[in-house]
Amino acid sequence: MIFELKPFDELKVGTSSKKRVAYFYDSDVGNYAYGAGHPMKPHRIRMAHSLIMNYGLYKKMEIYRAKPATKQEMCQFHTDEYIDFLARATPDNLEMFTKEQAKFNVGDDCPVFDGLFEYCGISGGGSMEGAARLNRGKCDIAINYAGGLHHAKKSEASGFCYVNDIVLGIIELLRYHPRVLYIDIDVHHGDGVEEAFYTTDRVMTCSFHKYGEFFPGTGELRDIGVGKGKYHAVNIPLRDGIDDATYKSIFEPVIQRIMDWYQPSAVVLQCGGDSLSGDKLGCFNLSMRGHANCVNFVKSFNVPTMVVGGGGYTMRNVARTWAFETGLLNETLLDAELPFNDYYEYFGPDYKLDVRPSNMHNANSPEYLNRILTQVFANLENTKHAPSVQMQEVPPDLVDFDDDPEEDTKEAIDTRGGSQKAHDERIVPENEFYDKDEDAVRAKDSTDYNEAEKKPTPSIIPASYYNEVAEDMVRELERDEKNENKEESNEATITPASNGNGNYLKENN
Ligand SMILES: [Zn+2]
Repeated sequence: MIFELKPFDELKVGTSSKKRVAYFYDSDVGNYAYGAGHPMKPHRIRMAHSLIMNYGLYKKMEIYRAKPATKQEMCQFHTDEYIDFLARATPDNLEMFTKEQAKFNVGDDCPVFDGLFEYCGISGGGSMEGAARLNRGKCDIAINYAGGLHHAKKSEASGFCYVNDIVLGIIELLRYHPRVLYIDIDVHHGDGVEEAFYTTDRVMTCSFHKYGEFFPGTGELRDIGVGKGKYHAVNIPLRDGIDDATYKSIFEPVIQRIMDWYQPSAVVLQCGGDSLSGDKLGCFNLSMRGHANCVNFVKSFNVPTMVVGGGGYTMRNVARTWAFETGLLNETLLDAELPFNDYYEYFGPDYKLDVRPSNMHNANSPEYLNRILTQVFANLENTKHAPSVQMQEVPPDLVDFDDDPEEDTKEAIDTRGGSQKAHDERIVPENEFYDKDEDAVRAKDSTDYNEAEKKPTPSIIPASYYNEVAEDMVRELERDEKNENKEESNEATITPASNGNGNYLKENN
């Protein structure tokens, strides 16, 4: 057996290896609401932030409020007409957009709520600016818990996600990095990110998720990418009830193998908290430590990493886990007793940090996981020597991306404070963050893109890239469908047929 069930050891932090961490938070994010009864609550990001502040982690990292992503920036991935709709639709004028609602899949799962576009801007801006800071070597780790909205498609909302901040962040990373690895530990398949990069070998996507009768219905073991992207999509379809030791025993060997063979120069880790035990929508049995072990393991490779949020519907547990993980990223093990914080009452009756596993059945047998691991390793063999990927050059800086001393001044760094309230009150007015220097840093406006296209720098993606990719993808898929019948008998099909595209809400009501 390749699969070996390893014991789950205590998490350890070092002291010599402290990384430079940039944490992105916008105090407005907790005010947005999807609507009464909707399980997705941006408030959980504010709860996590309050814990992070009150545990004193502001002393260990730099805290920023990102400039919201603009329409133009969102259109690096999304279509103009979709983003235009998101910018214009409100609950009050929605009756004018009957056709668009169906076309762009807004409705029950993805409602139009007050401030929707601003919310998308905050989520996207954090991931783009985190990526830009990593690109410039200004930090080793960037964190954006308002991001991680992995289901959003090019011109469609899906699974509580409207704008795919992860794809926008990865596009930014690709300006400097030849190979980017995306890892997704949300309980749901990271379909939007996988789809965006399905035909390229410059991004490897690796998603660990519940598969079978579960949203979004994609992410089979045999979905591995097409064309140049073949073998650069990795799917680990899991069953209900996976526990800490089992998850570790599949996560670590897969990620180790990808790191060894694909050798990414940057990593994006989606930390969806719905894979935790007791999640309202999830069905896994990870404790806080089991979830955080993935963060710690990814960090141990010392590759520039962006950490984003994602799902997570039992708010108190999401807040606990993201706070604990922020501690780990700062080489700090947080105390088991929760500090007093703005949302203390949410954490009763025990007021402890831990999220514990339950006694639910683990339906992932060693035999089942062995078959997955064997197939995944066989696929990854093909990425071992990928000359076209290895030979990609990292281009020199385009414009004036030189170190700007201004950028680390007090005005640019978000105010640090004790309580959430104190912190929010001291946040400098928005325009003080949106200065010209920070704009130049992200440099995603069309002027810069036109410049970029004139210069044949291999790592820069022209704005037209995604349309080309989409067309390629269609061609590849057509080709693939023709070949499918021939190959079918060789493919390991060990997962049941998918349930197709259900909705989160329908499934759980
Ligand atoms: Zn999820």
